Amino acid sequence: MSQQFDLVVIGGGPGGYEAAIRAAQLGFKVACIEKRIHKGKPSLGGTCLNVGCIPSKALLDSSHRYEDTVHHLDDHGITTGEVKFDLAKLLDRKDKIVNQLTMGIDGLLKGNGIEWLKGTGKLLAGKKVEFVSHEGETQILEPKYVILASGSVPVNIPVAPVDQDIIVDSTGALEFPEVPKRLGVIGAGVIGLELGSVWRRLGSEVVVFEAMDTFLPMADKALAKDYQKVLTKQGLDIRVGAKVAGTEINGREVTVQYTQGGEDKTQTFDKLIVCVGRKAYAEGLLAEDSGIKLTERGLVEVNDWCATSVEGVYAIGDLVRGPMLAHKAMEEGVMAVERMHGHAAQVNYDTIISVIYTHPEAAWVGLTEEQAIDKGHEVKTGQFGFAANGRAMAAGENAGFVKFVADAKTDRLLGMHVIGPAASDIVHQGMIALEFVSSVEDLQLMTFGHPTFSEVVHEAALAVDGRAIHAIQRKRK
Ligand code: FAD
Ligand code: NAD
Repeated sequence: MSQQFDLVVIGGGPGGYEAAIRAAQLGFKVACIEKRIHKGKPSLGGTCLNVGCIPSKALLDSSHRYEDTVHHLDDHGITTGEVKFDLAKLLDRKDKIVNQLTMGIDGLLKGNGIEWLKGTGKLLAGKKVEFVSHEGETQILEPKYVILASGSVPVNIPVAPVDQDIIVDSTGALEFPEVPKRLGVIGAGVIGLELGSVWRRLGSEVVVFEAMDTFLPMADKALAKDYQKVLTKQGLDIRVGAKVAGTEINGREVTVQYTQGGEDKTQTFDKLIVCVGRKAYAEGLLAEDSGIKLTERGLVEVNDWCATSVEGVYAIGDLVRGPMLAHKAMEEGVMAVERMHGHAAQVNYDTIISVIYTHPEAAWVGLTEEQAIDKGHEVKTGQFGFAANGRAMAAGENAGFVKFVADAKTDRLLGMHVIGPAASDIVHQGMIALEFVSSVEDLQLMTFGHPTFSEVVHEAALAVDGRAIHAIQRKRK
C-alpha cells in the first residue's frame, strides 16, 4: 500500500470531497477516508450533506410552503380547504434529498478515480496515515500530501446535556417525530433561527434564549434590528440577555432555569434544542508525534493557504480558523490542492458571504458599518427597502432592505447587507462587486432589469449618494 496515493484526504465533507475531486482533475492519485455512518450506511458529504446545510434547507423549504399556503395564499384570492401536513412524509422527503446527494458524491468520487476508504484516518509522524476500516483492518499509507478535513461537532454545555430525546442538538432537531407544542432553543445564532423557524412554522411555540445582550452581534446593526423585529413578528420569542443556568427533565418535558434582567425564571418545554456553536473535531485524528500544532481553541494551526506545521500536510474547513461554512471549506480544499500543484491559489476571506435561510432571508458580505468605522474608514451608507419595489410587492415579499457600506473618500464598496426575498442570491452581487473592487458609482451606472428584486440593489447604491429614485431623498447629490 506504501506510496500508492499522491494525496490522502481525511474527511469526506464539502471541504474534503471537493479537494479530492480537484486533485484528481490535476492528475493526483487520491484516497478519501470517511468514517461517517448515516442512517445505517457509510455516507460521504460530511455534516453539510448529512445533518447540516441540506437537510435543514429541505425542512425550511417544506415548512415555508406550508406556512405560505396557510397564511398567504388568501392574499392572492386563492381559497384552500383545510391544509394539513404529514410530518413523516416531510422528513422522508428530506432524507431522500440527503440520500440522493450523498450518493451523487459517491458517484463523483468513483467517476474521478478516487478511492473512498470507509473507516477512520489518523495522521502519524512523518506524514504517514493510519487507516482503520469499519471491519477493523489497518493499513499504513505513505502519500506525498495529506489534507486534514475532519470538520466540527456541536458544542455541549453542562447546564443542558444532550440526550437526543428531550434535549437535542441540531442533528436531533432535524428528526422530531412529532411537532413539539412547546419548543425551547438555547442560542439565537444561525441554527437557532433556522431550526426555530422550521418548527414554529409547523406549529410549535418557540422561545429562543440568547445569553448575549445583543441580537446577532456579528451582523450590521441596522440589519440585526430589522431582522429581530421581523422574526419576532412571525412569532419567534427571542429573549436576549437570557442565561440558562440549568435544566431538569421530568417525564416527557424539560424545565429550563434561566436568569434575565437579574431575575431567576423558569419555563417548561416538550423539546429543547442546544445550538450554542460548533467546535473543531480532531478526536483520534492526530498521533501525539504527528507534528501538527493546535491553537488554544483546538483548531489546527494553518497559514493563509491552509498549510500546517508539517510540510505536505494541509488542514481545511471547520477544523481551522475562520467561519464554519461549507463554501469556505470547499474553497480552502481547492486552494490547498492548487498550492500542492504549484498554483498561487488564494481564498479571499474578506468576501465570504453569510446567510441565514429564514424567510425573509438575511445575508451579508464584507464589512458592517460598525466594522468599517472601527477600521478607520470615513463611511457613507445607502439603504433601500423592498417595500418600494414593484416586483417585491407583486410577490407579497416586501419586508427588508439592501444596505451598502462604502468609503466616503474613495467611493469603494466595503460591504452589503440584505434582508428580503432571495437575499441569499442577491448578496452574490455584492460579493462579485467586492471581488472586483467596485466603487458605488460602478453599481449606480449599471442597468438593472425591471421588475426584479435586484432593482433594490441599484436603488440602495443610488441611495448612498442621495439619488434613489423611488424614495424621497433627504440627502441629494
Ligand atoms: P464536515 O462537513 O464536518 O466533514 C468532516 C467529515 O470528516 C465528517 O463527515 C466526519 O465523519 C469525517 N471525519 C472526521 N474525523 C475523521 C477521521 N479521523 N477519519 C475519517 N473521517 C473523519 N454551512 C453553510 O455554508 N451553509 C449552510 O446553510 C449551513 N447550514 C448548516 C446547518 C446545520 C444544522 C449545521 C450543523 C451546519 C451547517 N453549516 C452550513 C455548516 C457546514 O455544515 C460546515 O461548515 C461544513 O460541513 C464544514 O465542512 P468540512 O468539510 O470542514 O467538515
Ligand atoms: P452560532 O455561533 O451561530 O450561534 C450560537 C449562539 O448561541 C450565539 O448567539 C451565542 O451568543 C449563543 N450562546 C452561546 N452560549 C450560550 C449559552 N450558554 N446560552 C445561550 N446562548 C448561548 O452557532 P450555531 O447556531 O450553533 O451554529 C454553528 C455554526 O454552524 C455556525 O457558526 C455556522 O457557521 C454554521 N451554520 C451555518 C448556517 C448557515 O450558513 N446558514 C446554518 C447553520 C449552521
